[in-house]
Amino acid sequence: MFDALPPELIEELRRRSPKLILLRLPDGLRPNCAAIAESIARASGAKVIASADPCYGACDLAPEDAEAIGADLIVQIGHSPLGGRRRGDALIIETKAEADPAPLIERALDILKAERSIGLATTVQHVHQLDRIREILEASSKEVRIGRPSGWAAYEGQVLGCDYSAAKAVADGVDAFLFFGGGRFHALGLGMVTDKRVIAADPYEGRVVDLTDDAKRLLRARCAAIEAFKAAKRVGVLVCLKGSQKRLREAAELEGLLERRGKGALILSFRDLRAEALLSFSEMDAFANTACPRIAIEDQPAVGRPILNVREAMVALGELSWEEYREDPFSQAKA
Ligand code: SF4
Repeated sequence: MFDALPPELIEELRRRSPKLILLRLPDGLRPNCAAIAESIARASGAKVIASADPCYGACDLAPEDAEAIGADLIVQIGHSPLGGRRRGDALIIETKAEADPAPLIERALDILKAERSIGLATTVQHVHQLDRIREILEASSKEVRIGRPSGWAAYEGQVLGCDYSAAKAVADGVDAFLFFGGGRFHALGLGMVTDKRVIAADPYEGRVVDLTDDAKRLLRARCAAIEAFKAAKRVGVLVCLKGSQKRLREAAELEGLLERRGKGALILSFRDLRAEALLSFSEMDAFANTACPRIAIEDQPAVGRPILNVREAMVALGELSWEEYREDPFSQAKA
């Protein structure tokens, strides 16, 4: 997925002429980390230090880490700038997957025989392939819809774990969604947000699966977690200290609300949260998460206690209805 530095990165590196660069890569690009660092050093003349800490998204740029090592530029590869907005202290460079999507899309069409109108969604690595996927679907007489995002995603059809606005924009007009990209999380989120049939075509695993029932199961699990949260006597409010995930004010407001509802509450700060770290806070009956919404979905099974995202906590506390929550289950805005 990353054979050579893109020309725009080389041009920007030369224009900015940094002295020390903090390089941040998601897991998928780390096997090529040394080669990428050498190319950046050659193109810029700068020294490069690569971060071995997790790098989850463009919300996670780690400016504090850059400051700690004296880096004057962060280069982060594999994500898209939040809302398409560039930053002065960082170069956020997207990567493009090149494998032909056609064989997987043909298999998806075998499953989507009955549906006439298909919504497309993907992650940033595959946004440039949506036109090709559209062509294949249209050749089979499908009507294709690709929505425009209104949140943190930058491109038409792009979804993030915390922003499904592009899919929601077309959900009313489609019979099913086809998600093209890696992993299950985004496709499950699509099902939860839109209530539509969701087929996931994963080019990394070479798999095409119907995740509609899994998304419904996940939604039922979230409902059960909300019910369990209501009985909690003491709640840990999780606040992440990193970049755009940091919502200290919201965490303080949530802490206050929990206390007014007769629950004990304590804000727990973290940089990188591991489920095991929460296990040791055994006084806490439940957690409310103000950071990346994936934490609540993916870590709850290992923690064995409810971890609710902000809007789920609002439902448990009677501040939002279930229907209002369903309008945007992965947003961390309270209302
Ligand atoms: S908050 Fe989570 S889902 Fe949203 S961009 Fe960051 S890592 Fe991705």
